[in-house]
Amino acid sequence: MLEITDLQANYSGIQALRGVSLSVRQGEMVALIGPNGAGKSTLLNCVSGQIQPAGGSIKLDGIEVIGQNSWSVSRSGLLQVPEGRQVFAEMTVLENLQLGATALRGRPAVYPLSRVIELFPILGERRAQLAGSLSGGQQQMLAIGRALMGAPRLLLLDEPSLGLAPLVVKQVFATLRQLNQEGLTILLIEQNAKQALEVTGRAYVIEQGRIVHSGPSQELANDPEIEAHYLGQGAAAE
Ligand code: ATP
Repeated sequence: MLEITDLQANYSGIQALRGVSLSVRQGEMVALIGPNGAGKSTLLNCVSGQIQPAGGSIKLDGIEVIGQNSWSVSRSGLLQVPEGRQVFAEMTVLENLQLGATALRGRPAVYPLSRVIELFPILGERRAQLAGSLSGGQQQMLAIGRALMGAPRLLLLDEPSLGLAPLVVKQVFATLRQLNQEGLTILLIEQNAKQALEVTGRAYVIEQGRIVHSGPSQELANDPEIEAHYLGQGAAAE
């Protein structure tokens, strides 16, 4: 479904991505893990059209995404849950969810409001509350719910575990896994390598703008080199 080839991105002289290639097949849940500043968010922002890459190709179902505006990318069902949730704090939970549905543009609502509330009952209970008054975990659920309202074909998540209590992380990841088992294709970007490898089928490791490892998540989780370098962070977060 998603085919990224030799992707390069720069910020005024800094090479953030140095020829990244990765793919996500329909129905897969794939992780991209790596330390701070490795280029994870840059990659995601290239895919969602928020950053123009310096080179390479990003194809969704064979169609080039580079050069498309972020709103036209979102209308093709490529929807991002941004780092730090970025909910609209002064709007209610319900209004935030309704905004997510604006990405539909005539496409059927695969995850209507009732389904989102079934997945995250707290959002139903707090529907009239301002989003800014929710806890971090509830805001993360709202950010995911908002993306689901736009009927993602491919859901991109940027560090959904950031700043959340371990129990809430488990809950959020369990819901993502459930969504994937129901057929949703997911690309999950995480510093919390341990938990990301537990819930995904395949993973890539990025470091200094380059993919340095890839393979089945379980194999990577059991690789002593990966464990030594990356799994300490996830373990520390627990
Ligand atoms: P984090 O987990 O901290 O978000 P990351 O893996 O997502 O890290 P990126 O945010 O993609 O990494 O950053 C990759 C590199 O690009 C880093 O060296 C970072 O300092 C740099 N960078 C990111 N955004 C900008 C920007 N807007 N301007 C200049 N440099 C940037």
